[in-house]
Amino acid sequence: MKFKDIPGHDEVKRLLRSMVDNRKIPHALLLEGPQGVGKLAMARAMAQYIHCTDRQSDGEPCGRCPSCIQHQAFNHIDTHYVYPVVKLDRMTTAPVSADFATEWHEFLEISPFADYDRWVGSMDKKNARAVIYVTESAALLHVLNLTTHGSEYRVVILWLPEKMNEESANKLLKIIEEPFEDTIFIMTSDNPAEILPTVYSRLQRVSMKRLPDNVLATFLEQHYGVSADDAASIARLARGSVTEAERMLDTRDERHEFLDMFMQLMRLAYQRKVRELREWGNTLAGWGRERELKFYEYCQRMIRENFVSNFGVGELVYLNREEAAFSVNFARFINERNVERIISVMDNAMIDIAGNANGKIVNLDTAIKIILLLKQ
Ligand SMILES: [Zn+2]
Repeated sequence: MKFKDIPGHDEVKRLLRSMVDNRKIPHALLLEGPQGVGKLAMARAMAQYIHCTDRQSDGEPCGRCPSCIQHQAFNHIDTHYVYPVVKLDRMTTAPVSADFATEWHEFLEISPFADYDRWVGSMDKKNARAVIYVTESAALLHVLNLTTHGSEYRVVILWLPEKMNEESANKLLKIIEEPFEDTIFIMTSDNPAEILPTVYSRLQRVSMKRLPDNVLATFLEQHYGVSADDAASIARLARGSVTEAERMLDTRDERHEFLDMFMQLMRLAYQRKVRELREWGNTLAGWGRERELKFYEYCQRMIRENFVSNFGVGELVYLNREEAAFSVNFARFINERNVERIISVMDNAMIDIAGNANGKIVNLDTAIKIILLLKQ
């Protein structure tokens, strides 16, 4: 990982480089800020830069020396990763990071921008809570008590220290407080307020802010093969987070399909085409309960955004290019007389669908109510 693989954050990059160049690396460093802005990637770039034996004049690790090659292959002998893990049913004792090393490497290969939900999903257990268990400290101590293998510094990259309970945090604190002279902790946190205060106060903090829209847009264009227009609209919706943008790129096809169904509903309702609306409702019912619910949520968001856009406050409106194009002519049909009622009609549809009502009937009924509400 090189610094230039991470968008933006020029100040932070300068600061971290100068710490290394001037041999003033704090013993325990915390990169803090919102999820998806590249904090873990930054920690990895710094670690590689620390170990690189041929640092370049442009402030990057060389990418070719043995240390760099080991870093890029996740097998640098003096770099250790600690991250939250889940306890699988087959496990009899609390797991440690090393139990999930393969999953971790794959996770970061897919994208170096770490997303907690995606990580939990990749450990084969959905909806679980990942934790840095107390067993982790003992495992880390064991590793740190071994002699180093030639590097001047050993680096421990700890992702999400807020996922430690009090007991694990206190044990870790001991390791930080009895410094292994040559060991540097680089932690990255999405929610620093949740870190145990006694740990937090020991860390030298560097804040990483959300990425500016233009920086994120350029990055998406260069690395994800997205057109300039799409990149700009995704960047705006993603609010400065690469992981959020990635999630949107993954769901882009679904969003396109939802918009298409939403436009059909509104056009047919406006034209009072009940027979076509019945077909529309049958198609929607065929999507299955879960997607129907997601679709109605999407509709509610569209209704709100279109309502807000009537006030001409552009920054408040989070529509992509396609949605915004539909909104140009549609927004004026949503007003203070019908906005809440349309949303509540859709709320009721969702309650009925979640309660196993016949989707075809619910969807047609909803569409007919919308015919009336659009005339208000
Ligand atoms: Zn190198």
